[in-house]
Amino acid sequence: MPKLLLVEDERSIAEGLAITLEAEGFQVAWVKDGLEAVPTWERVRPDLVVLDLMLPGMSGTEICRALRSRSEVPIIMLTARDAEVDRVVGLELGADDYVTKPFSTRELVARIKAILRRAPLVDPAIDDAPVEASGVRVDRARHEVQVDGSGVELPPKEFELLAYLIENAGRVLTRGQLIDEIWGSDYVGDTKTLDVHVRRLRTRVEQDPKAPSRIQTVRGVGYRFADR
Ligand code: CA
Repeated sequence: MPKLLLVEDERSIAEGLAITLEAEGFQVAWVKDGLEAVPTWERVRPDLVVLDLMLPGMSGTEICRALRSRSEVPIIMLTARDAEVDRVVGLELGADDYVTKPFSTRELVARIKAILRRAPLVDPAIDDAPVEASGVRVDRARHEVQVDGSGVELPPKEFELLAYLIENAGRVLTRGQLIDEIWGSDYVGDTKTLDVHVRRLRTRVEQDPKAPSRIQTVRGVGYRFADR
């Protein structure tokens, strides 16, 4: 049974949602104070978080940042009516989707199901046969990486980036392609994020991160994983 964390201080909205979601087969944990959100997330480890923006204790944006620094859990933001700025902020913060109040419960349930369907662990379309290039092996099914035969732990985005580079070993991948693939085409953050991830990844897969031989920079274009 999928577990949801609902962070919403308005009792009438929260209760209506909880009843509908439970009828749809979800297990719902509800908190109404922003300060309870992160501790409850830690305890419950939900499959998805529905997060109101305006909350007592700690705002939805702060909670979103705090959750994103800890996890890739899908987050749907509930924003105030006509709050265009809030929409942008919600997605910049790494939220997966948002709905604008007042919203129909049916629409929110449809969004929740859509996100859970495309979440990596339940996506049956992913071809997860292990791939290998240049002494680095990635096994998506087991979520394992081996560098020269030794296991290496990677955070989710670095794992995705490495897997995609190796699946396309020998090909030059543009910055745009990589950002689309790893962060999604609606990504609105700083493109430096890609360089930061590449730099971190090099410290884990290169013998000498300062003179990288596996993840090669193609100046002005993007990156290529060595295919030797
Ligand atoms: Ca509120």
